[in-house]
Amino acid sequence: MTYASHYECTLCGRTFPFDGVMTTCPSCGETGILDIVYDYEAMKKTVTKASFRENHDFSIWRYLPVLSIAGTRHEETLHTGWTPLYETKRLAEALGLKRLFVKDEGLNPTASLKDRPSAVAVLDAIARGYDTVACSSTGNAASSLAGQAARMGLHAVIFVPKRAPVGKLNQLLAYGATVIAVDGDYKAAFALSKRAIAHYGWYDRNAAINPHLVEGKKTVSLELAEQLGWDVPDWVVVSVGDGCTVAGVYKGFYDLFRLGITPSIPRILGVQSSGCAPFVTASESGYPLVECEENTIADSIAVGIPRNPVKAQRAIAQSNGAWIAVSDEAILAMMKTLGSAEGIFGEPAGVAGLAGLKVAVAAKMIQPHERVVVLMTGNGLKDPANAGKAVGSPALLKPDLQELIDYMKRKHDKGCVR
Ligand SMILES: *Cc1c(COP(=O)(O)O)cnc(C)c1O
Ligand SMILES: [Zn+2]
Repeated sequence: MTYASHYECTLCGRTFPFDGVMTTCPSCGETGILDIVYDYEAMKKTVTKASFRENHDFSIWRYLPVLSIAGTRHEETLHTGWTPLYETKRLAEALGLKRLFVKDEGLNPTASLKDRPSAVAVLDAIARGYDTVACSSTGNAASSLAGQAARMGLHAVIFVPKRAPVGKLNQLLAYGATVIAVDGDYKAAFALSKRAIAHYGWYDRNAAINPHLVEGKKTVSLELAEQLGWDVPDWVVVSVGDGCTVAGVYKGFYDLFRLGITPSIPRILGVQSSGCAPFVTASESGYPLVECEENTIADSIAVGIPRNPVKAQRAIAQSNGAWIAVSDEAILAMMKTLGSAEGIFGEPAGVAGLAGLKVAVAAKMIQPHERVVVLMTGNGLKDPANAGKAVGSPALLKPDLQELIDYMKRKHDKGCVR
């Protein structure tokens, strides 16, 4: 059972009955991405603070009544969601904030936030009778889809750009997916996947085109709001590639607001890498989005042509948020800062939000007294090569105590150890 009532085209505003099948607007074509609209008045009758208090399912499925799928077989998926929300006091102090929280999405079953939409996708595919699911991805959408598909007995066909980090490729292969590494960038992988999905009639998990995926992503906001006792923060910070995640983050807070569970919607800071920042460039210039090079170590947000621009720009505008770009050097430095200050290990795109927050605080876009939640979107173990750039290599010593003592003394003199 779902309270979804109809689809609405994000370009022309036309509405269509919610039959669960449609993907894009027939008048606007492929860029006519649909929004799923709910009957909040009906939803309000069962979805309340009390209903959550009594709910003992600590996974994304506690939010099933707020989603767009019926959820048949939902208890069989990989355990997804209810990731920890840490208050990070040392990091807050380092950044000049009073209250800072980090949500560690790297602890999802395939180690990124993408497990949320992929769990929704596999259930939707099963409900509609598909046996094969497909997507193109910078890496994490792929590995999450492959893992969730394996768990549910579906076949997955995955298109990745050849640069995809080895950790993500290994995951895909271990999960038994058919993996096509496309000799080209993410734009090329996306283009081939689109043609292949149309040709073979597979379930299309490409996040922009399939509106159910933003619904899966929104569970991260529902969850963090609930973890804060429904006392939403002033800002939520998220790294942005295609724009589906930031759209989902907004949708979750919008739902809670419409349900009367929370009194306001947090401002959203969208962070991109300066090596590939089409949204930031467009917001600074006031012109439409233009295609960018995909020139950054943060592979998960290296998206030269964002596929969900309308929903992403709306999320920032309607939340009274902001865009910011951050350098690869700052991202690498933040990997080390977050790891050493808080014990949380993120991949480059995973910590890009925090690196962007640092810039935003320094630029006084975010004030010291404001409460901030940052989504740490993906685990550092996925991308050992870039992690190595951030952290360097360990000391190599002979198995000799005196050599160790000399080494420790040198480190101590440099102020590195206590
Ligand atoms: C996919 C992803 C993002 C960005 O999500 P979009 O929907 O592409 O904007 C950020 N961080 C990580 C780790 C991701 O995998
Ligand atoms: Zn339309």
